[in-house]
Amino acid sequence: MNATVERYQRAVQSSNLEVDELAPGDVDALIAAGLVRDGLGPSLIRLRSERDAVSKLPGARSLTPLLKSMTGVKLRMHQMAIDAAALLCPDLPEAEAKAVAERAIDFFLDPNCPPCGGTGIVGEYGKPQHTCNACRGTTRRQAYFGSRQDLEALFDRLMRVMEEKVDTAWRRIRSVKAEVESAKGMIEGELRRVR
Ligand SMILES: [Zn+2]
Repeated sequence: MNATVERYQRAVQSSNLEVDELAPGDVDALIAAGLVRDGLGPSLIRLRSERDAVSKLPGARSLTPLLKSMTGVKLRMHQMAIDAAALLCPDLPEAEAKAVAERAIDFFLDPNCPPCGGTGIVGEYGKPQHTCNACRGTTRRQAYFGSRQDLEALFDRLMRVMEEKVDTAWRRIRSVKAEVESAKGMIEGELRRVR
């Protein structure tokens, strides 16, 4: 069996690439097969699936920095923050740009507003419910930077880029999934031919 077919097969076997059901390792398999180019988007998807895998364990928050994809994501995000800061707030020290990047990663992994649990609504059971004051009903955690509009602009930029990169990566993964399905037929034909 040739190497390409073998690589395709490994990717096919990792299957189950559902939007919310990506097993850790699936993205790696697609990258190893040359079907998805590695980058920030795939790294963030991997990181989130690693985080989901440990989220029910006690002390999940303290495990987050240890996740396999964290080091790579941090390096990419640090660089992106430094590059974005050069345009948005040129006087910002690199260390501050990096700290904003790490805050953005934290919000990416844990976006829900704590007081309302990400529902946008608060109120005791059986009593009138009202819109959550902390997130104003957006369901998202709010990052406060006080008077530091430069940090806020950088944070918003990083969050937007992360979302775009993840969206693009998902679109690619879904289209690859379709390609892999059709490759399955090709592999089966090839296997019949070489046997
Ligand atoms: Zn809220």
